[in-house]
Amino acid sequence: MPLPRKILIVGGGVFGLSTALSLSKRHPESEVTVVESSPIIPNPHGSSVDTSRIVRADYANAAYSKLAAAAIERWRNTEWGREGRYTQNGLLLVYPADSASAKEYARKSYANVRQIEGVNVEFLPTQKDVLKVVPAYGSELDVAGGYVNWGSGWSDAAASVSYAKSLLDADGKVIFRTGDVERVLYSTASGKSKATGVAFADGATLEADLVVLATGAWSSKLVDLRGRAVATGQAIAYMRISDEEQRELENLPTILNFATGIFIIPPRNKLLKIARHAFGYRNPTAVPVPGENEGRTMEVSLPEKGVPVPLEGQNSFRVALRQLLPRFAEREFVDTRVCWYTDTPKGDFIISYHPDHEGLFLATGGSGHAFKFFPVIGDKVVDAMEGSLDPELREMWTWAGAAVSDGEDFDGDGSRSGERRANLKNELAKTNKASRRSVL
Ligand SMILES: Cc1cc2nc3c(=O)[nH]c(=O)nc-3n(C[C@H](O)[C@H](O)[C@H](O)COP(=O)(O)OP(=O)(O)OC[C@H]3O[C@@H](n4cnc5c(N)ncnc54)[C@H](O)[C@@H]3O)c2cc1C
Repeated sequence: MPLPRKILIVGGGVFGLSTALSLSKRHPESEVTVVESSPIIPNPHGSSVDTSRIVRADYANAAYSKLAAAAIERWRNTEWGREGRYTQNGLLLVYPADSASAKEYARKSYANVRQIEGVNVEFLPTQKDVLKVVPAYGSELDVAGGYVNWGSGWSDAAASVSYAKSLLDADGKVIFRTGDVERVLYSTASGKSKATGVAFADGATLEADLVVLATGAWSSKLVDLRGRAVATGQAIAYMRISDEEQRELENLPTILNFATGIFIIPPRNKLLKIARHAFGYRNPTAVPVPGENEGRTMEVSLPEKGVPVPLEGQNSFRVALRQLLPRFAEREFVDTRVCWYTDTPKGDFIISYHPDHEGLFLATGGSGHAFKFFPVIGDKVVDAMEGSLDPELREMWTWAGAAVSDGEDFDGDGSRSGERRANLKNELAKTNKASRRSVL
C-alpha cells in the first residue's frame, strides 16, 4: 500500500529512529521528519539510553522469540553489533522455589529458545547447577533452578541510538527537528477526524499527511491511552567496582530472576548495574484530555525526570545482592535512577493506526522489552503502515477493541514482580522522611 508523502515521526528513541530508517529505505519518495524534544539524541531522559539493555530471544511467547532471533542475527552479524554495541555474554534465567509463575515462564522460554539456539541453551535443574555457571555468586543464592542461554547478550543502548542516528544523518533524507510537541492537530472537514500535523509548545505548527507517535512513556499526553498504556518508573542503581572485580564479573552471563524482577548485567568501565523489571512506580499527573477543546483534564502517569530510586527500591537491591553478590550488598550506590517503561496490559507493543483518527499511527508500548528489536522493529512498523504485517504480530499489536477498565491492573506478560501501582511521590516522601530520621 502506498504511504502518504509527508510523514512526521514524533520521538527519536528506538521506535522513532528504527521507523525512520525503514521508511527512508522502503519509501524514499516520502518526506520524513523526526521531531524530538531533546536537543540531543539519544535523549538522556528517554527509555532508549543507559549503559545496557538485554538482548534475548528468551520469551515465553514464541512470536517474540522468533522476532528477537531475527534481531539477534543483526546484532551478531552486521554493523549494528560492532564497536562494542553488542556483547554476547549469555543470559541466566533463574527462578526461586516459591514462584510457580517464574518457573512456568522459564519453562516456556527454555522450550522456545532451545528451538532457536539448540546446544547454546543448557537446562540447570538445581541451585548447584546454577552456581556452576556463576561461581562468583554467593552459595546463599535463593534459586531452585533455571537455564543459561549462551546465545543471548546485551547492547550498549546509548551507543546504539547514536549509531542509528548516524546512519540517518549520513543518508541525509530524514529531516530532524528539535521541539516539544504539545498536541496533535486534527481536521474534521471530511466529516471524519483526520490528523493534519502537530502544534509545538511555542505555538509553531508542522503539517503532515501521517503523524506517527513514537513518544514512549510521554505518549499519554498526546493521545488518550487510559487502559491501554501507562508510564511506569523502574529502579536502576550503579556501584563502583575495582579492576579486579571488573575482571572477575565481566564475562559472566547476565542474571535475570523473573520472580523478583532483579537483573544484573556484567559490568563495563568498572560500574556494576543492578536493575528491577517490576510493576514499577506510577506518577499520576493531570493533563488536558487530548483532542478535546472543552478544558477537561485527565489523570495519567507521566515520567518524572532526574529522581533517585526510593528507599523501597534501594532496599530490594540490597536484599538481592545479599543473595547474588553478598560482598557488594552494603557498598554505596554511586548513582540511582528511575527509568520509564511504557507498559501495556499484556506487555505487547502498540503498532497500529488509531481507529478514530485517520492519519494517526502509534508505535509505542515498549513494555520494558523493545530495545533488542531496534534493528528490525522499524520494518514491522512500516509493514503495519502498509497493511502487510504478519497476522500474528498484527493481532498482538493492533489497537485493542476495548481498553482495560480503570480499576483493573495490567498483568503484562507474567514477568513482573513487586507492588502494583506504587506511587512514586509517596515513596520519595517516605525516603525523605527516613533520611531525616537517620540524620537526627
Ligand atoms: C530501565 C529500563 C531497562 C530496560 N531493559 C531492557 C532490556 O534489557 N531489553 C530490552 O529489549 N528492552 C529494555 N527496555 C525497554 C526499551 O529500552 C524500551 O522499550 C525502548 O527503549 C522504548 O523506546 P521508545 O522509542 O518507545 O521510547 P524513548 O526512547 O523514550 O523515545 C521516545 C522519545 O520521544 C520523545 N518525546 C516524547 N514526547 C515528545 C513530545 N511531546 N515532543 C517531542 N518529543 C517527544 C522523548 O523525548 C523520547 O526521546 C528497558 C527500559 C528501561 C527504562
